[in-house]
Amino acid sequence: MWNTSTVEWIDVELTSFCNIDCPGCFRQIKREKVDHILNKDVITLDQIKKWITRENFPNLKLVNFCGSIDEPTLHPQIIDIIDYLDCDVNISSNGSTKTTDFWEELGKRKISVMFGIDGIDQESLEKYRIGSKFKKVKANWRAFIWAGGHATWQFIAFDHNEHLIDIARYMAKLEGFDNFRVIYSHREESQESKTIQRPVESEIVCKYANQKRIFISHTGVMLPCCFVNSEFLQLYATDEYRTDFQKLFRDTGGMLEHNLKSAEPDEVMSHWDLYGTDKISRCESTCRQAKQDVFLEEAL
Ligand code: SF4
Ligand code: SF4
Repeated sequence: MWNTSTVEWIDVELTSFCNIDCPGCFRQIKREKVDHILNKDVITLDQIKKWITRENFPNLKLVNFCGSIDEPTLHPQIIDIIDYLDCDVNISSNGSTKTTDFWEELGKRKISVMFGIDGIDQESLEKYRIGSKFKKVKANWRAFIWAGGHATWQFIAFDHNEHLIDIARYMAKLEGFDNFRVIYSHREESQESKTIQRPVESEIVCKYANQKRIFISHTGVMLPCCFVNSEFLQLYATDEYRTDFQKLFRDTGGMLEHNLKSAEPDEVMSHWDLYGTDKISRCESTCRQAKQDVFLEEAL
């Protein structure tokens, strides 16, 4: 099922840094266990040049900078990394970083940015995006859009902000965003978030395999998807091997055999036969029982 020559889309967790504190983020939910691995590492430009090549991934179409614990725009070489890549680029960002000059430079590169803006002003934004500055986000999205960037306004629905969705959509259209996306989170930890139940599938439907998509963690470990990355981050932080995924990871060579610092992509993928099957409880819960966020996106 997994093959480097069929991969079209790579998610990259470019760093372990973030500048804000969303309560539903893995960084906060598992803070006590994972604090010591946060705000430490980045994937360097040289590593990207070595790992993400046409030779390794001949059919690559999109690199999506969106990890479980990172704000990609904090990477000191992000512009150089984008300039190196010869495919479409998307960044998921809280938008509350750096300067308008930086965001203008991003916009000139005609890439896509998914801005996480769950409110319409400072008061509503910081109920979830704790530490984010609405004025700064607004100045940054304007610099990005006016320079030619493609922007999506992404809005996580909560009890406290659901009544603002229509206003946010209207603002997004006025400001020149291309798309507006509402997320209904499945996460029990985000207790306040609104949910939409996905239907249970009769069999496991592997989301990432169907999308010809894989995931690279900020450690260099290559994984089939972001869903198992949360289990990987826990074992990386604690050295505890409890889940099916964690035991499989250990039994098929652990950090050395799954890390692009020490293994080739097709070597890593040779250990992935059980992903997408009922041997991995995470695959069963996420891609059959459908414990996934629901995205409702519309063009503006
Ligand atoms: S912006 Fe992203 S990485 Fe940062 S705290 Fe929020 S969800 Fe986590
Ligand atoms: S959780 Fe399993 S089935 Fe779902 S996308 Fe990841 S590897 Fe595929």
